[in-house]
Amino acid sequence: MRICKEFLLLECKSVRAVLQETLRFEYGAGGSRDFFDECEIRLSFIKQELQNTADDDHKRLQHYAILINALSDLIARIERSSIGEYSWPFVDEVKRIAAVICTENTLASPTTPPTVHVLSGGGLDKYEINVEQKKPFGGKRRILTIVFPRSLKHFVLLHPVLGHELGHAIRGSQFEALLDKIIREKLLQGSAKFGDPTITAAWLYDQNAPADFKPLLPALGGNANQFFGYYADWQSWVDEITCDLIGLVTFGPSFAAALCQLLYTLAPTGNEYSPYHPPAACRVNLILSAMRILGYEQIAFENPAHLTATQNFWNKLKSHQKNEQWYELFTDKQIQDTLDNLRAWLSSHPPAKYDAPTPNTLGNLLDLLAKQIPPIGFEVDAQGEPECVDVDFRHILYAGWIASHASSNEEFVRVNRLCEHAIMQQRAISIFKGTTT
Ligand SMILES: [Zn+2]
Repeated sequence: MRICKEFLLLECKSVRAVLQETLRFEYGAGGSRDFFDECEIRLSFIKQELQNTADDDHKRLQHYAILINALSDLIARIERSSIGEYSWPFVDEVKRIAAVICTENTLASPTTPPTVHVLSGGGLDKYEINVEQKKPFGGKRRILTIVFPRSLKHFVLLHPVLGHELGHAIRGSQFEALLDKIIREKLLQGSAKFGDPTITAAWLYDQNAPADFKPLLPALGGNANQFFGYYADWQSWVDEITCDLIGLVTFGPSFAAALCQLLYTLAPTGNEYSPYHPPAACRVNLILSAMRILGYEQIAFENPAHLTATQNFWNKLKSHQKNEQWYELFTDKQIQDTLDNLRAWLSSHPPAKYDAPTPNTLGNLLDLLAKQIPPIGFEVDAQGEPECVDVDFRHILYAGWIASHASSNEEFVRVNRLCEHAIMQQRAISIFKGTTT
């Protein structure tokens, strides 16, 4: 039998062989070089430290066993991903946002972007961004692993829900403290429902809570204070709300539509909650209030058909709103102040902030969709010449939701495909025009 250290060094060699093999695969449009380099650095570090560890220093040996296991697990997860299993045009756009708001301060640079890798998982609830909470020793960059539901590969209209996951990915980045400060000072401070865990528990157990919600709460012998701690985690609930707001300010109306669709599919009454998620309806109500405050619904279309289609979309979205005041978590002023601060922060990190499209841009995209053409930036100039223009991929998604809001499942699938192609083509246009790389 080999001694512990000897076997760990053998495992380092085996992991290196696995790492070499993973290069056989295409992991995304950007290739897998960054990923390989990062894993190489970590592996070399672990091997070197192991070699410098005494055979009987069990504490350190155990520590390096944990690190090599984590690295091996990471490589195996990446190996299971392949470009054929997820919507890579969409991933490319998400990467561009993650690269500016999930940066961290390292020796190499105060704004080191993460390395992003993608894989697919099973289940509608599989939209995730797995974050390395702490960069392992010897690592240069954090690795974010984005997970897409395999069955929704081509459903780009639902992918904006990853905006929420970007919020989680900000944890551990250089912006974590700033985000916490905004949420604490602008949203939670003085809040009648989310001021602290005791206040939130009192709201949940309020005698005026909706009749169909009350039976979902544990009795706790009349001691509501025990709800957080025994049944749920208050900070996780706050994080969920925070991430929803990040999703909205980064993706706009398409995030709200995707969130409503997925939440009300998995939590059909809206009252469902979990230890880590507040009632779904409260989250949806908050996002709908935030959009009203941001004025997203006001678009001065000249074409009445565009106006009607867009109003229908908004009415459908707002039909998900619960009318009881109990579901409203914050005042308009708290929401407004929070959004103002989040948007001010994002505006200095393009392209992270979502800005509403002009009526002309959105109208053109809707016209193309009506003709079954991928909605890209294409115009005819004053001389009658065709001209390609830059269009934000989030406007394409917004147009897709408007065009598909009342349609059949087949139609929804078709619009998703057109939008996915449009995002890919739009990227090509931007590269051709030299406005992106
Ligand atoms: Zn979450």
